[in-house]
Amino acid sequence: MGEKKAGNLPRTKIEPLATFKTPMFKSWPRMKAVPLTATTLKSIGGRVIDTILPPMGLFPGLDPQLGWADVTFIDDPCCAACGFPFEFDMGDDALCGRCTSKRPRYRSARSAFAYNDASRSVVLAFKHGGRTEALSMFARQMRRAGRDGLSKADVIIPVPLHYSRLTQRRYNQSAILAGAIAKLCRLPVDTHSLTRARATKTQGGLSYSGRRRNVRGAFRLSPKASVGGKTVVLIDDVFTTGATLEACTQCLYKGGAKSVHALTLARVVKGAALPT
Ligand SMILES: [Zn+2]
Repeated sequence: MGEKKAGNLPRTKIEPLATFKTPMFKSWPRMKAVPLTATTLKSIGGRVIDTILPPMGLFPGLDPQLGWADVTFIDDPCCAACGFPFEFDMGDDALCGRCTSKRPRYRSARSAFAYNDASRSVVLAFKHGGRTEALSMFARQMRRAGRDGLSKADVIIPVPLHYSRLTQRRYNQSAILAGAIAKLCRLPVDTHSLTRARATKTQGGLSYSGRRRNVRGAFRLSPKASVGGKTVVLIDDVFTTGATLEACTQCLYKGGAKSVHALTLARVVKGAALPT
């Protein structure tokens, strides 16, 4: 399957800033290392970012003092497996402590930005409120974060919602993200191969082991699934413990998938209230 389709993805291009050719942005550090203190963006162009990204004020409940400059975008260096951001470059194959003790089933997981006080309202407004003002920006940032997996991908598959949740919410936010990324990368989306066999209770407040138990057996491959031999990029909104992504990955491997790379909009890093 190899390098193709999205093989010309930019390596470290930060899309919202890419159109700016002013000297100010020539010195942009290419997001090679984003400190978790989240001050980098604020110090070099936060106000400009606020003017070219959807205004934070569009999102209900958001602290008006916060802006995109407060969002911590994630890039290398990070754990080669789960994408946990490192403050220092420890080599391309470096793993975090958790992945060293037990490597996840997915080949890699990457996320566009940290799930924290600055991004929570944006994510929840998208997830539960149907607010899609920032969708194209989300897709571009996810393409940036997931460029390695996307460059090898044959297909994009969103984490499915159970039909009862889908009826209640009326849309699957992961499928919306998957569609936007697929369009950007000119890759097919498969929303049929992976299904949710049972509804799971809300994951908020559950520990890692609790989340694993909660999603165990929750996903199934459709009898018409066609993932055999394919490299899959699995899309979800928030990486919390990775339990959902691991359960989906296990299903896809059972169906003969060659490789699975996970890609999420945001991820819990530390100290943030867990998303529901
Ligand atoms: Zn890790």
